[in-house]
Amino acid sequence: MNLRPYQQEAVDNLRAAFRSAFRAPVLQLPTGGGKTIIFCHIAQSAAAKGNNVLILVHRRELIIQTSKALARLDLAHGVIAPGYKKNNAAIQVASVQTLVRRLHLIDFYPSLIIIDEAHHAVASTWDKILLHYDKAKLLGVTATPERLDGKGLEEHFDLLVKGPTVKFLIQNSFLSNLKVYTLPIVLSRSLIKIKNKDFDPEESAQSLEDAGINGDAITEYTKRCPNKPAIVFCCNIRHAKQMADRFIKAGYKAAALVSKGVGPLERAQMIEDLGNGNLDVITSIDIISEGTDIPVVTTAILLRPTESLTIYLQQVGRVLRPAPDKEFAYIIDCVGNVQKHGMPQQDRDWSLEGTPKKDKSPPVFICQSCYAAFERESLKWPVICPYCGHEHWPAEKPEEEPGVALKVDLVEVEENENIITQHDRKKLIAKATCLEDFIEIGKLMDYKPGWAHIAWKERKAKISQAEWKPPSKPIKYRKFNMSEIMKQAGIPEPPWGK
Ligand SMILES: [Zn+2]
Repeated sequence: MNLRPYQQEAVDNLRAAFRSAFRAPVLQLPTGGGKTIIFCHIAQSAAAKGNNVLILVHRRELIIQTSKALARLDLAHGVIAPGYKKNNAAIQVASVQTLVRRLHLIDFYPSLIIIDEAHHAVASTWDKILLHYDKAKLLGVTATPERLDGKGLEEHFDLLVKGPTVKFLIQNSFLSNLKVYTLPIVLSRSLIKIKNKDFDPEESAQSLEDAGINGDAITEYTKRCPNKPAIVFCCNIRHAKQMADRFIKAGYKAAALVSKGVGPLERAQMIEDLGNGNLDVITSIDIISEGTDIPVVTTAILLRPTESLTIYLQQVGRVLRPAPDKEFAYIIDCVGNVQKHGMPQQDRDWSLEGTPKKDKSPPVFICQSCYAAFERESLKWPVICPYCGHEHWPAEKPEEEPGVALKVDLVEVEENENIITQHDRKKLIAKATCLEDFIEIGKLMDYKPGWAHIAWKERKAKISQAEWKPPSKPIKYRKFNMSEIMKQAGIPEPPWGK
């Protein structure tokens, strides 16, 4: 099986990283970019050189997926998980939970450990395994190099290798085009209690119910993309079951795919049914947010507010895979996750230290007529909705909805859109690239007319200085970035840049 050009680049970059004496690079590749095929190729070449390779995964579905990918490359491998017989192949795919129990019984010593969904590799079970094999090289792969608590992966990894962006993959048809919609009613996230660093699931479900958002989610689905295969991400098991019942009452074929009371075979059947039209809707918590490959899924309905960028991106990532007859993927965000974390295709400045806070203010604009969410292309007013053509001017306020429940706060959208904070101002200015941009910002901020000219003069001076900078100082070990490594290794820059 041939790799796509950007996948080959990723393989080359990882090899260059190992050659440059990094012991533990982590590859960031958007969901749907084909990370399994990339690390299987790496495993193949490592095994061909006589090395043992251990591939660590944390879900049963991922074992099956990885085993299938290895089989497609004709690679002999074993599986360390319940129900599989032991063999002596050089490549072993292991369930983390099983391996940690059998660690001292297994005489398999990998020189390379590949960790799929590496943002999980911080729990104590992973630590035990990595300590046990402390001589092995590590390769992590993930779409979201950020732990669920927002921290980075620097504890285990020493270099972040970035793959292409979501935008690049969409533009080149490796991922589906998408439409993002929000609800006219905004969930008041600030009123929900935080528990274990995220919104309390019980309270979240109750707030959604109180505000009538659970019902609205079904209305929106019917309005935007009825009967298109959908996953509904819910707050807890009870919420998932209630939502499945509601979809059934509304005339859809729906089922709740939850961990309790649903066996692996039944789960696999549900996923198949969603693919073949026997089901319209699967409701779930997170059991299908990661690693489950269902290209046909078209719609993600977000009914779980989350503070975790990783959870949000893993959820929306489920629907971005292209499939025949799939013109668009639909995200129906009922809980303000898009406003909080930005558009799914937004460029993100990932680093081993986690996502910088400054990146988290998203340039999302919500249309006050059709409630589509989109990235605002310029600073100019009016902002025209690309979906319905509605013109927005700075002073426009969202229409008041009569009869809105107590926990609902319509002001939130208005604040997001029209009040420019100090932080936004800095960001706008940083983005400005010509005098015209500065004049626009000046108008937006009510600055004196001369400001734009002075600001632009200063910027121009900085630009010309930057161009004439002498070559940078020697770089320290941890400060390496991919461009430099590639320069040293003589590899040209990938088309998606730094
Ligand atoms: Zn619109």
